[in-house]
Amino acid sequence: MPHTEQQLRRDMVRIGRMMSEKGWLAACDGNLSARLPGDRILVTPAGACKGMLEENDPIVCGLDGKKIEGSGRPSSEIHMHLTVYQMRGDVGAIVHAHPPFSTGFAAAGRELNLGLLPEVIVGLGSIPLAPYGTPGTPALGESLLPYVEQHDAVLLANHGAVAWGEELMQAFFRMDKVEHFAHVTLVAELLGGAKALPRSEIETLFAARERYGIKSRTRFEQGSPIAAEDQPDVGEKLQMTREQLMAIIDDALKLRGVY
Ligand SMILES: [Zn+2]
Repeated sequence: MPHTEQQLRRDMVRIGRMMSEKGWLAACDGNLSARLPGDRILVTPAGACKGMLEENDPIVCGLDGKKIEGSGRPSSEIHMHLTVYQMRGDVGAIVHAHPPFSTGFAAAGRELNLGLLPEVIVGLGSIPLAPYGTPGTPALGESLLPYVEQHDAVLLANHGAVAWGEELMQAFFRMDKVEHFAHVTLVAELLGGAKALPRSEIETLFAARERYGIKSRTRFEQGSPIAAEDQPDVGEKLQMTREQLMAIIDDALKLRGVY
């Protein structure tokens, strides 16, 4: 374990403040956790404002979620953290927040799956959208199950986002990348449509993932992320004569029984 418990507590205070300053958390939203030796984790307490966290606040829990040491209750979203630790032995820390652009995509039912930016493709591949699970219940952790092995960051429908890594700063940087990518994707869409990179380039970038120590998916699978060749052309123009158009409208009206 590269960090002592005291160092992890200090990192949590620092990252909680940065998340709050970045506007990723309203009031007491979000939570952080890190793995400790002996099947234990350190997790932020329920109801704590992450921007005002103190080193003594994080609580020590077992991998079964039961409190071992500390005052207060562990975060109500601890199920989600436990699911990831149980499935991924390489994960040492998890960051959960409600950053506005990522959460906007999650609330619109949109995953971040376009192959747009080289750094995002190398670092994260694509960011899927887990179906809605009620916060504070095991349903939230269960909604993540299909995505944990293959991904390092996931959007949570109608809720927010979660990212994990070998240590806290890596998990925080991944969340930072997700939020930046959500922002860039939105701007590109406002400017007329995000244009994905070609499949061959995405394959080249995926081949670099192993070199960067990425432990999740290292092989590109078609559609995750979506390449230029697979992108639906929403701006495609169709040509037809007035007669052809009138015939289509006529058929549609007949089908609906208008005449
Ligand atoms: Zn949340």
